Amino acid sequence: MTAWNRRCCPTPTAVIRSSSRDIRDCLRPESQTRYQHELRHPAGQQNYRGGNDIMKKQTWRNLLFATIFAVLAAGTVVSQRTELNFPDIEGYVTLACDLHTHTVFSDGSVWPAVRVDEAWRDGLDVLAITDHIEYLPHKDDMVIDFNRPYQIAKPKADELHLLLIPGVEITRDAPHGHFNAIFIKDGNALNVEDQKDAIRIANEQGAFVFWNHPEWKRKGDTAWSEIQAEYLAKGWMHGMEVFNGDHYYPSAHKWCLKHNLTMLANTDIHGPRDYGADTDGVRTMTLVFARERTPEAVEEALRARRTVACSGNTLVGEAQWVAPLFYQSVTVQHPEGTLKEKQRLSVGVHNASPVTFKLKAKGGVQGLSFPGALTLSAGKTVMLRLEGRNIKESGQRDVQLPCVVENIWIAPDTSLPVTIDLKITFQKD
Ligand SMILES: [Zn+2]
Ligand SMILES: [Zn+2]
Repeated sequence: MTAWNRRCCPTPTAVIRSSSRDIRDCLRPESQTRYQHELRHPAGQQNYRGGNDIMKKQTWRNLLFATIFAVLAAGTVVSQRTELNFPDIEGYVTLACDLHTHTVFSDGSVWPAVRVDEAWRDGLDVLAITDHIEYLPHKDDMVIDFNRPYQIAKPKADELHLLLIPGVEITRDAPHGHFNAIFIKDGNALNVEDQKDAIRIANEQGAFVFWNHPEWKRKGDTAWSEIQAEYLAKGWMHGMEVFNGDHYYPSAHKWCLKHNLTMLANTDIHGPRDYGADTDGVRTMTLVFARERTPEAVEEALRARRTVACSGNTLVGEAQWVAPLFYQSVTVQHPEGTLKEKQRLSVGVHNASPVTFKLKAKGGVQGLSFPGALTLSAGKTVMLRLEGRNIKESGQRDVQLPCVVENIWIAPDTSLPVTIDLKITFQKD
């Protein structure tokens, strides 16, 4: 994905610059000299004058071509999107969301509209820009208004049909930590001294509030303090990041399961998107199963905990959501076949998702052998090779190959169990 982007995505500026250079080349005196030199004939002045006429025609022709090229370039799509192709699941549309990003309005280094363009190029459906309220290293160069990042980014998001969610990051030291409040009405109203007041006001605005990078500065454990216990009891805290960038927090995963909190995965991106960085899997994102593609439906799905946290090639979520996502992604081609003793049968298994699934066999099936491990590469079909082994009776049987998906976690250290379903006609010798 990223290599393709790197090769094929000239920026708009680059295209316009090269077109302008072509035009300038045609108009420069030295280019005219070059044409004169090429056309000058050793036989005499007559030919030279004739050559000069041809030169003028060619110069105008080149100028015309350059102008046409410039017009075409201006109308060309110069930014390209990588479609993620996560499948929808029954009753819901699957939306790819990054709900934690920064811009120059706090400690990020890009303009809000650039975040939107990056999200669109990465195939996201939903973006929240969540600048810090309390940490503003660029404040001497900016007009500080916590609603401005959303206001600036919104026209670009509308142009690209990306859902943009207003948000901020409430940023306090441990044991409080950092909380994102999204779907807020007014970010400036959260700029208050007391941290609990900020969380309370966010909730009064109807915000969805989640605890960011909960293990940050906590040496591998999510220290659940009385502050988080109070927020939970008051219904002020609705989710936790189980991934921040490529950092996985198993303790946050456990707390989400214990307290029925929404699991999220976000980039928390500060610098410009580095399209060469993801060599494995997809950008960190929260997959949200929404009833429709609207901000209101995204919020409803978040509150109903219909999410899967995704980073690289790892998915984390409740079995009720990761299982249908897996089965909608993976299809067995020609699942029916015949097997005799020691005879082989190949079955195509296709993975339509952008994530590579690593399957490991768990247990056996009477009458056949199959590989102990199978990698279902993103967007590819692989051949699963079966062999008749110790067939005891003839006849057709529904066969379920028992596996786990090693990179889908339904709890810390627990992988999702799945089956590959086949219909085999066994023929005993
Ligand atoms: Zn933070
Ligand atoms: Zn942050």
